[in-house]
Amino acid sequence: MMCSAGSAAAHPDCLFCKIVAGDIPSDQVYTDDAVVAFRDIAPQAPVHVLVVPRRHVSGIDDLRDEPELAGRLLAAAAKVARIEGVHEAGYRVAVNHGRHGAQSVGHVHLHVLGGRQLHGELG
Ligand code: AMP
Repeated sequence: MMCSAGSAAAHPDCLFCKIVAGDIPSDQVYTDDAVVAFRDIAPQAPVHVLVVPRRHVSGIDDLRDEPELAGRLLAAAAKVARIEGVHEAGYRVAVNHGRHGAQSVGHVHLHVLGGRQLHGELG
């Protein structure tokens, strides 16, 4: 399935655009035409992978009219969980958005966390 989300449109100052382009190294776990998944540099669990769109999208708010890309990101997160072998024990997918959401990188990303019992608190 082709996805317009796969077309490159890098944002010059964006850390994750540079990772997608290969200008900054990353430990990639999964890629497809729309998505790149790589290990978080400061993991908060034994498995901590970030799933990002290849195309620059600032935050989840910008996905409100992009259900195909949103679905591709979520499907990729589920694939990452299988690749990492946490799909049976369970895992968490989280998206931080904006200031109150504590988003620190302005290129939308799904955190895939697992490999140990996670705590119940989200807020
Ligand atoms: P957030 O706070 O939700 O915006 O998440 C940003 C995540 O990006 C954090 O968990 C960081 O540890 C992670 N991060 C920052 N720089 C890098 C990098 N160069 N490679 C991989 N992960 C990174």
